[in-house]
Amino acid sequence: MSINYSEEQFDELLTTSSMLNEDINESSLRPRTLDEYIGQKKAKDNLSVFISAAKMRNEPLDHVLLHGPPGLGKTTLAAIIANEMNVNIRITSGPAIEKPGDLVAMLTNLNEGDILFVDEIHRLNRAYEEILYPAMEDFAIDIILGKGPAANSIHLDLPHFTLIGATTRSGQLTAPLRDRFGVTLRLELYSIEELSMIVNRSAAILNIDIDSDGAYEIASRSRGTPRIANRLLKRVRDFAQVEADGMISRQVADRALSRLDVDKAGLDAIDRRMLRSIIEYYNGGPVGLDTLAATINEESVTLEDVYEPFLLQNGYLTRTPRGRCVTRKAYDHLGIEYLGQQEISL
Ligand code: ADP
Repeated sequence: MSINYSEEQFDELLTTSSMLNEDINESSLRPRTLDEYIGQKKAKDNLSVFISAAKMRNEPLDHVLLHGPPGLGKTTLAAIIANEMNVNIRITSGPAIEKPGDLVAMLTNLNEGDILFVDEIHRLNRAYEEILYPAMEDFAIDIILGKGPAANSIHLDLPHFTLIGATTRSGQLTAPLRDRFGVTLRLELYSIEELSMIVNRSAAILNIDIDSDGAYEIASRSRGTPRIANRLLKRVRDFAQVEADGMISRQVADRALSRLDVDKAGLDAIDRRMLRSIIEYYNGGPVGLDTLAATINEESVTLEDVYEPFLLQNGYLTRTPRGRCVTRKAYDHLGIEYLGQQEISL
C-alpha cells in the first residue's frame, strides 16, 4: 500500500513523531533488550529492578503504564519487557477495541505470564474499561449473558497476565484505571547525545555510511525523538547518495535537512507556523489551544501531543492558565523583533 503526499504535506510529515506508513518497517531498528535501549536511564533502571524481582519470585510483572509523547519508544519498551521476561506479547490499541467482546477475546486468549500491550489506552471506550478493573486486580471477568430477570452471569478466571498501557496523555486516563497500574514510567525527550547514539546504531543496521558529526547534526534536529531521528537519517541518506559520495558528513546532513525544511533547531513548518501565528494574530499570546489549532488548520490533539512537548521543553512556548504564549526565544528564532508582550484589551 502506498500513500501519496503533496510536497507540502511531505515536509510537514517529515518531523511528525506520529507513526507514518514508511515507519511500518521500523521493527528492524527496534532495540530488543534493555541494554540496547538507549537513554531513559531512570525508567530503565527501575524497570530492570522490577523485572529481576518478578523473575526471582517467578511471578508475572505488575501492570505497567508508559507515558510520554509519540515516537519515544513506548512500544519498543513493551516488546523489550516481554523479551526480558521471556513471555509472549499481544498488541492492540484503545481505538481498535470496538466492542466489549474484542477485549474479552483478547483477555481469554492470553497464556499465563503473557503481556497484553494496549497502545493509546486513553482512547479505550470508558464503558469497556470496567472489564479491565477485575481483570487487572483479580485476574477474572464476569460476563453477563442475556437481559432482565433471565440474565446469567458467568465468572471466568484469567491467567496471571501483565497489562502494559501506553499513553501520550495520562491525564485523560480515569483514576480507577490509572490506580490499577503498579508501575508508572514516564519517558522523557532524548538528549542530543543519546539521539546521536541512536542515529549511529540505526546507520550501522541499515548499512549507512555516516561520521560522528553527521550523526550529531541529525540528532540535534530530531526534536528529542528517536522515530524522527530514524526518519531523518533515511531521508538524509537519499541526499548523500544522489548529491554527495554516499557518506553523511555534517555538511551533507545540514544541506539535506535545510532542503527538507527542518531548521537548525529541528523545528519544522508546523512548529514555525504555530509560533508565528501566536505572534502575528495574538500578539504573542495567551491564546487557547483550540483557537490556535483552528487558526493554523491543525487538530488541537496533534498540537498538544506532537508539537508542544518539544516547544515547551526547549523554551519556545509557555503554557499559562489563559492559554499558550510564545517566549522571547521564539521571536529571536523566527527573526521577529521583540517589542515586549502587551495584553490585548477589548
Ligand atoms: P512509541 O511507541 O512511543 O510511539 P516506538 O516504540 O514505536 O515509539 O519507537 C519508535 C522508533 O524509535 C522505534 O522503531 C525504534 O527504532 C526507535 N527507538 C525508540 N526508542 C529507542 C531507544 N531508546 N533506543 C533506540 N531506538 C529507539
